[in-house]
Amino acid sequence: METILAIDDSSFNIQTLASFLQNDYHIISAQSGKEGIQLAIQQLPSLILLDIEMPEMNGFKVLEELQKNDKVSRIPVIFLTGLASIETEERALLAGAVDYITKPYNQNIVKARVRTHVDSYLHQKTIENELLLDTLTGLHNRRSYERFVREKWNDALENQTPLSIAMADIDYFKNVNDTYGHQEGDHVLKLVSSAIQEALPSNNNYVARYGGEEFVFILPNVYAKEAERIADQVCKNVFNQSLPNLGSKASNVVTISIGGVTIIPNECDFLLDFMNHIDHMLYKAKSYGRNQVVWKK
Ligand code: GH3
Ligand code: MG
Ligand code: MG
Ligand code: MG
Repeated sequence: METILAIDDSSFNIQTLASFLQNDYHIISAQSGKEGIQLAIQQLPSLILLDIEMPEMNGFKVLEELQKNDKVSRIPVIFLTGLASIETEERALLAGAVDYITKPYNQNIVKARVRTHVDSYLHQKTIENELLLDTLTGLHNRRSYERFVREKWNDALENQTPLSIAMADIDYFKNVNDTYGHQEGDHVLKLVSSAIQEALPSNNNYVARYGGEEFVFILPNVYAKEAERIADQVCKNVFNQSLPNLGSKASNVVTISIGGVTIIPNECDFLLDFMNHIDHMLYKAKSYGRNQVVWKK
């Protein structure tokens, strides 16, 4: 059941809304703008029904605050108000509300509008999620990675915490395709993805397919020593799968090489340089003979 947040200073109004929406939705409510914003961030509802006239913070101000926060800025907001003026309606829609309903309202019409906006929001979320996934492996894709890494970089910069990132590249993967065919190559990509995922700590990791046979994983808040240990485990996990690669010069099974760097970034550091640095570590792992980890300490 999707969650709807009603923000209205009148508990009577909230109860009325709940009475005809609660069969289809999980209704949560707040009687002030401030509390409403907090609840929205915490619960991430699929729609917000917002009153305009409230003491302290009015509906317009609430909408403005919601739009400033990335977590909730896309949640559709419907104004539900006693203010039946064309000017206010225009202002509300221009401010970004998806709909504007005046009291007294017809319950069935409110229900229908709510359903339309909730459905369209869910549809949009599904498409956005798909855009961030790699279709072959089900891992995050590069687009998702670019987003996520910027977030984690900023967190690390702000809190002065370590950020460990590793690039993994399958060794002699071209030979897998050449020896066993492209389809088997795809199958190997899936199995290697799972092996990488399984070796990472379950609570604190992010892994993406960066390109063809390249993967990247992020370990936020993990120092170099521990990150290197985890990367070693990832490398071993892939090796232990014993997937044949007779064309490989590193082993007779599929292996990966990993390059990694840990940083506590400061204002003078750039993410792009950091990524190049990681790439360089991967290059070293390749040139030292592959099937190994090189971690910059
Ligand atoms: P190295 O150890 O130096 O990394 O050698 P490599 O053969 O792995 O590297 P190279 O860059 O020469 O070849 C990568 C190969 O990965 C070439 C390409 O055909 C293959 N590849 C990339 N994406 C896919 C994919 O989605 N499916 C399959 N089956 N192969 C892919
Ligand atoms: Mg009010
Ligand atoms: Mg490669
Ligand atoms: Mg490769």
